[in-house]
Amino acid sequence: MENLLVAENIYKRFGNFTALNNVSINIPKESIFGLLGPNGAGKTTLLRIINQITMPDEGRIYLDGKPLHPDDIAHIGYLPEERGLYKSMKVGEQALYLARLKGLSKAQAKERLQYWFKRLDIEAWWDKKIQELSKGMAQKVQFVITVLHQPKLLIFDEPFSGFDPVNANIIKDEILKLKEDGATILFSTHRMESVEELCDYIALIHKSNKLLDGKVSDIKKEYKSNTFEVGVDAIDELKLQNELQERFTIGPARFKSIQEDLKMSIKLKDNEDSNDLIQFLLPRARINHFVEVIPSVNDIFIKTVTQNA
Ligand code: ADP
Ligand code: MG
Repeated sequence: MENLLVAENIYKRFGNFTALNNVSINIPKESIFGLLGPNGAGKTTLLRIINQITMPDEGRIYLDGKPLHPDDIAHIGYLPEERGLYKSMKVGEQALYLARLKGLSKAQAKERLQYWFKRLDIEAWWDKKIQELSKGMAQKVQFVITVLHQPKLLIFDEPFSGFDPVNANIIKDEILKLKEDGATILFSTHRMESVEELCDYIALIHKSNKLLDGKVSDIKKEYKSNTFEVGVDAIDELKLQNELQERFTIGPARFKSIQEDLKMSIKLKDNEDSNDLIQFLLPRARINHFVEVIPSVNDIFIKTVTQNA
């Protein structure tokens, strides 16, 4: 997969403090890339470097295979962590002004703003002043302004903070739609809720270091432990429990079921797979529930951060 953005061996120091310690990321074209990490990890610093707001002390950034150039800013849409709109200006006036700054003609700007304001159901805000909007409302306006010039790379710094769950979901769906339309998206977050459905790729930064990165599905495969959640109606429950204990590693079940059946998690050996377990269970029980345990990004995040504490 071809990369749209490559950040290579980035170092950034503030005085004695190293905010980024040899961090590299590769963002494949038309993917959603999540930059994950606790507060203070270095996420915003990296995003600011990619946006040429600050310079790295060492390292290189490539956009579409070429070293990043000041003119590339036209191909990037950036929603900064500190949302900054002029408080006393009217929403529509300001949106038009900022759209013109991004190189849209007046007619184009108007047309696209109308489209987006309608799409997000915020048309009624056009003549309001920014200071009259709530934090979440202002953030919605700024989201529109970020994507308006249809840049190939979109960078959102903590796009969901400041939103209630309903609006966070709306923005999540819009981000997915932008990807479908061909954009490449890099976003940062310290919260894991929205990550599962959104990200194709992630990088985990903790205390200025990258601990982990790659395709989400590959990472999950690497972190899964050959464990299955199983719910059965046993022919002889006690006997089955004993036989299972002898043969496998049994743990408590984490799922709920409507049946009063025997529930547990069963960890297989490395050389075994689901068929071995099913074959074992079939003559002894009716299988009501059989699901492989796949770690969530949150599980992986916590495990990696704790291991590196
Ligand atoms: P994140 O976005 O992951 O929460 P940041 O990139 O904002 O983290 O910050 C990483 C670390 O770098 C923090 O400890 C922060 O205090 C420090 N830092 C960021 N910008 C500056 C700066 N301009 N001067 C000094 N320290 C900074
Ligand atoms: Mg930040």
